[in-house]
Amino acid sequence: MATRLAVCVARTHDRPGVTRLSVIDTFPDNALFLAGHRLASITTLGSTPNMSAQRVQQNLWQATCREQVPTSAQEGQVSADLVVVGGGFTGCSAALKAAELGMRVCLLEADTMGKGGSGRNVGLVNAGLWTPPDQVEKQMGHEAGEKLNAALAGAPGLVFSLIEKHWINCEPVRNGTLHCAHSASGLKELNSRFRQLESRGAPVTMLDGPQTAARTGSPRFYGAVHDSRAGTIQPLAYCAGLARAAQQSGAMIHTNSAVTHIDRHNDAWHAHTAKGVVTAKYLLMATNAYHVDVKGIAPPAYVPIHFFQMATMPMDVDGRSGILPDLEGCWDTATVMSSFRRDEEGRLLIGAVGSLNHSAASIHRDWARKKLACLFPQLGDIPLEYAWCGRIAMTSDHLPKIVRPGPDALMIYGYSGRGIGPGTVFGSRAVSAFATGNEDLLPLRPVESHLETRIGLKAAYYETGACLAHIARL
Ligand SMILES: Cc1cc2nc3c(=O)[nH]c(=O)nc-3n(C[C@H](O)[C@H](O)[C@H](O)COP(=O)(O)OP(=O)(O)OC[C@H]3O[C@@H](n4cnc5c(N)ncnc54)[C@H](O)[C@@H]3O)c2cc1C
Repeated sequence: MATRLAVCVARTHDRPGVTRLSVIDTFPDNALFLAGHRLASITTLGSTPNMSAQRVQQNLWQATCREQVPTSAQEGQVSADLVVVGGGFTGCSAALKAAELGMRVCLLEADTMGKGGSGRNVGLVNAGLWTPPDQVEKQMGHEAGEKLNAALAGAPGLVFSLIEKHWINCEPVRNGTLHCAHSASGLKELNSRFRQLESRGAPVTMLDGPQTAARTGSPRFYGAVHDSRAGTIQPLAYCAGLARAAQQSGAMIHTNSAVTHIDRHNDAWHAHTAKGVVTAKYLLMATNAYHVDVKGIAPPAYVPIHFFQMATMPMDVDGRSGILPDLEGCWDTATVMSSFRRDEEGRLLIGAVGSLNHSAASIHRDWARKKLACLFPQLGDIPLEYAWCGRIAMTSDHLPKIVRPGPDALMIYGYSGRGIGPGTVFGSRAVSAFATGNEDLLPLRPVESHLETRIGLKAAYYETGACLAHIARL
């Protein structure tokens, strides 16, 4: 992962249908290369007729974010108790917790707040992990798995309580989420998941096909599990709101402050930026799938999986009343998973596994239009206004990792696609563990290192699989 490649597709307004390359995203070069993508022949946005030309390729969350945090780049020599690297959910939750505990904390973000996965995601605040709870306990052992399951069962509660406490302006809706069965086998899987959750006392309800149709506005699903602990947020606003609350509680928050080099001497960590250095007893690395190389620290090991989203124009009032009338966020049981939800302004968002940053991305765009028409024919040919994608840090066992880069230091990553609740919990618990010296407060045990093998091959496998699935079926 030494070299990285930066590409994107942007429409040239003077020559309709013509696209050019520019920088929007970075990802491991071998993943792209092995996928066999040729960067020179991109034809994408111009070939998709119902996308409005001016705004497509933007991230909806950037356009509608109502939270702001005033920041500047880090300069000079600063000392702190804790230095946090990365301004996503994990880093911001940690900075907030540390500031509330009275610690002197400095957060360093390479770009703008939430520029990584936190500002690109679907906004489903779910309890637990993707992996069903029985499986988590099987993989980790009963005691460790039960501890992680219990910590993450309460994650939506923590997220929504922080939103309320700090008045975070992030479109919070806590009406639950719907995990929808896309097939008969998906329904079987959901029944099993439902039983596992119910046996742990989770407030879940199994819905049949007609009930799911009434809740979603789509007759396409075989049933769904409704989890009333969960909900939806505007994820970038939540991230920025955490950072703003942390700053108001005394945290130093710096953007455009990539940490280039970290060293340790005199029992302290020294995080170097372009114009300064932050010295602290404790170090938290919270860079996840958007890690920018830091000399002196081994990077997180994960398989990069991409997930894209597209948002329609705001639906008219009739369309809104029939589609997700109770505003639950949804995702399905398909192997190449897709998601859908509404935002506060009445847009419908559809998402799925896949990257928009390569030459075959028009497959995903075409699939999204067809999928919307299949799920919600009542929408008609509604234009798509926004399209964006992001990178997920997937681990081979689909479990998050806490790695110890050295004494008094933790690196947390690998949420494998479920990071709003987990990132908030892990960031906060890491600080509690630093502050008390009690690592039992962490949701899982830190390891000295974590390795992943055949990363590029696996990434290519997932992206190629998503393309093939999107060509083959809805
Ligand atoms: C498209 C998509 C959809 C998703 N949907 C959901 C969902 O609906 N629900 C859910 O729970 N989860 C979802 N996830 C997962 C979730 O978004 C992530 O797990 C979560 O955002 C990870 O947060 P983080 O703070 O650990 O990392 P990030 O948000 O990625 O933050 C890492 C930050 O570190 C910064 N950084 C990197 N290197 C350096 C450096 N050297 N110096 C300084 N800063 C640095 C980056 O710029 C970045 O801002 C989704 C992810 C994606 C990509």
